[in-house]
Amino acid sequence: MAIAAETQPQEKASSDVPAVEKKRWTLNDFDIGKPLGRGKFGHVYLAREKRSNHIVALKVLFKSQLQQSQVEHQLRREVEIQSHLRHPNILRLYGYFYDQKRVYLILEYAAKGELYKELQKCKYFSERRAATYVASLARALIYCHGKHVIHRDIKPENLLVGAQGELKIADFGWSVHTFNRRRTMCGTLDYLPPEMVESVEHDASVDIWSLGVLCYEFLYGVPPFEAKEHSDTYRRIVQVDLKFPPKPIVSSTAKDLISQMLVKDSSQRLPLHKLLEHPWIVQNADPSGVYRA
Ligand code: AMP
Repeated sequence: MAIAAETQPQEKASSDVPAVEKKRWTLNDFDIGKPLGRGKFGHVYLAREKRSNHIVALKVLFKSQLQQSQVEHQLRREVEIQSHLRHPNILRLYGYFYDQKRVYLILEYAAKGELYKELQKCKYFSERRAATYVASLARALIYCHGKHVIHRDIKPENLLVGAQGELKIADFGWSVHTFNRRRTMCGTLDYLPPEMVESVEHDASVDIWSLGVLCYEFLYGVPPFEAKEHSDTYRRIVQVDLKFPPKPIVSSTAKDLISQMLVKDSSQRLPLHKLLEHPWIVQNADPSGVYRA
């Protein structure tokens, strides 16, 4: 199988799950608990590493499905990148192993589940909550960009919530490790910046745009360029057709921040370290990075 043959991932287990340092993982090392969810390529289970009692999420992916969809390369990149990142707002990937049919990813367990579901439940978030989340994501992205990693797919579906209520960026399937400007088209249309929709070169400032879209969605409950037809979303993004509906009521400082992030010229977007100094963030974000209801 391609993944096994080319990367020898069994050698790559991280030492962060206590007491099992540098060992080769197998399924026998884990007690498998309840299913946590289902993704496109497999299932995620709560699991306990037997020797350390460390609780993890075990993501089980079927090699046949990965091959069929030709995403082995993408998975290898995701694993390579995510396993090297250490940040409180980025989901840890502790290690991985495989058998004949499956690939297993050993992930940090995010006890409060998907942010997407929480947003659906609440419809939209308060300014305090949105600002706390946006600030924590800005810090995580500053960390990624410092390591030359661009995420390129920031959206509610890719965010999980930890036990303390802290956000965790969970999906690095579209991320790249790069020193150059890139041209690949990827991600979900609603969050894509004009330069990616138009397939021109892009750099780390794509993540500033997506964070601006996310901030809007946190506050209004829908992404800013949503439309019935793909082609209309495309047009609205390219034209930066940004409108702020009268309801729910959102402060002018929040709108000011969003307007400074959703800027067509990527070099003119508010840099992430400046975002952290913006009055809306300073006035609303909980300095602990954790939203408490
Ligand atoms: P995915 O295949 O990554 O889309 O995961 C499918 C579902 O499993 C997600 O939507 C979550 O509900 C759940 N899940 C995935 N990873 C974790 C994790 N690390 N901690 C808790 N739940 C998770």
